[in-house]
Amino acid sequence: MNTVSDVPVDWLALESAFENNAANVRSYMHTVTGDVLRVVDGTAEPGAYTRIATDPLFIQVTPIGSREQFAWMELFIKTVKDPELRERLQCSVVGQGAFRRFKDAVMAHPEKAEWITLRRTKIRNAMDSWLASLSLRPVPRDGGGASAECRAKDAMMRLPKEDFVSVVAALAAKRCLKCGEQRSACVCKPKRTSAKSPVGDTKGAAE
Ligand SMILES: [Zn+2]
Repeated sequence: MNTVSDVPVDWLALESAFENNAANVRSYMHTVTGDVLRVVDGTAEPGAYTRIATDPLFIQVTPIGSREQFAWMELFIKTVKDPELRERLQCSVVGQGAFRRFKDAVMAHPEKAEWITLRRTKIRNAMDSWLASLSLRPVPRDGGGASAECRAKDAMMRLPKEDFVSVVAALAAKRCLKCGEQRSACVCKPKRTSAKSPVGDTKGAAE
């Protein structure tokens, strides 16, 4: 029986390792520190190869293959409500350059929020299963080194799956997480009126 080890996963780096399936890129996660090293053939510093080769705690990350990512696009197209967008996406995935054309078409349309949600959820599922298969339990990556973006991502990744999906959907559609309104129409937070009144606005103070 495997024992479960805690690992402070760097979710942003791990996510990009899962997404990047370019043939000349390999990524490795350290199972104790949670750090992710990315090696690009031809450009990587020799030290990176030595580090990976001599430290058995670095394990290679298998990115999500293009066949699987292609299947997500097909799955999404079936759910598209706007017939014109559906048609455009159907054409976009035929032949060379399908990923780029699909992305350009979907990201220019309001239904991109649904696509982002589907994609983020699939990637989360893949990362969760991978960590579980290695008997690794993600723990918060705190301490001085973690950026605000990193901590926010970490908090997201620890949400239960259903909450994760609704938060991702709200963020993708630029809706307020509290009231569900478009952020431009939301009144949950008093709006920053202008730079003239910085009182109480600690976030902007250091900028
Ligand atoms: Zn609101």
